[in-house]
Amino acid sequence: MLLDQLQADLADLDTRALRRTRRSLDSPCGPHVRVDGRELLAFCSNDYLGLAADQELVLALQDGALRWGVGSGASHLVSGHYAVHDALEARLATFVGCERALYFSTGYMANAGILPALVGRGDAVFADRLNHASLIDGALLTRADVHRYPHVDLVALERMLASSDARRKLIVTDSVFSMDGDVAPLAGLLALAERFDAWLVVDDAHGFGVLGPQGRGTVAEAALASWRLIYMGTLGKAAGVAGAFVAGHADVIEWLLQRARTYIFTTGAPPAVAQALLKSVDLIEAGDARRSHLAGLIAQLQSELRLRRWQVLPSRTPIQPVVIGDNAETVAVARALWDDGLWVPAIRPPTVPAGSARLRITLSTSHTQHDVTRLAHALNELETRA
Ligand SMILES: *Cc1c(COP(=O)(O)O)cnc(C)c1O
Repeated sequence: MLLDQLQADLADLDTRALRRTRRSLDSPCGPHVRVDGRELLAFCSNDYLGLAADQELVLALQDGALRWGVGSGASHLVSGHYAVHDALEARLATFVGCERALYFSTGYMANAGILPALVGRGDAVFADRLNHASLIDGALLTRADVHRYPHVDLVALERMLASSDARRKLIVTDSVFSMDGDVAPLAGLLALAERFDAWLVVDDAHGFGVLGPQGRGTVAEAALASWRLIYMGTLGKAAGVAGAFVAGHADVIEWLLQRARTYIFTTGAPPAVAQALLKSVDLIEAGDARRSHLAGLIAQLQSELRLRRWQVLPSRTPIQPVVIGDNAETVAVARALWDDGLWVPAIRPPTVPAGSARLRITLSTSHTQHDVTRLAHALNELETRA
């Protein structure tokens, strides 16, 4: 019975063209990948600085494994915490301008752990409607009342905060929205957090390494500092490795270490990974040339795309979405690009709102100007044919 129902649910995904499949890469992450025996030019990854297959990082990981072995052997609070984890946390805290940082195995786990550690039953969470799924899940785990405000709408948020009589309040936002590429109004959000005595959690998954001076992230770019601001950055995107960190006031970080269940009840990430990440932060800090090449590619794509029906969303980040609208048309365009040797993901509801299906183009500093021209020409051509 249960299995029959599940099989019917799977068949239903097929009827609605919503079943997802994976492509297996047979080469390292980069602009040119081999998939199913074909070479493709890819605009899909979040490897914005081209570090995921960087040789210096490969050597750092190798060196880390020789020094520390492969596994940590236990959770951080038992015996799975190593000196190199401490060194990484200290480096990350200084880099983003906070007192202390805590390293998590993944960004999903960081978000699922931070929110329930800070608020609970009887409290209130205020979340941007377009926040990442991990923040939505983290908010549900708090058991607090969750209020979702219209995307980047400070006026609506202010109204919601003013009418709340919750004991404790927490505002949570992506800094760079992962399907739109736009940047949250962080100064305005912090001003509201101060006025209504709320925490402000900022998820900088797509800003860390890319935005701000030396890639220190969106909070550094906006020059904000406050004990009530809790910064989360991920280390599997621009940093090119894996994991995430939370940074802020030392007492807040100490509390997360005591209470975040996704930190406490999991095996510590391999210390060799922390060693590779120390090198990655060095490369990010010294990466102005990588970032300026990337900024050039973003400007180039925007000037070479000549679309009339399809809408290029206003974004200054490496996430450059082209909204097509209709699900079937979006899938057909992605398919035509694929046949042309270009890999761009089609994003459909429920990941994005109904009627706003899109191509999510991501640029990396590893792309060349020629790569970007090839993509722009292919899209211009497909739009006129459609
Ligand atoms: C990717 C992402 C995460 C999750 O980070 P992982 O390290 O991949 O688990 C969290 N928040 C946002 C906005 C993301 O884009």
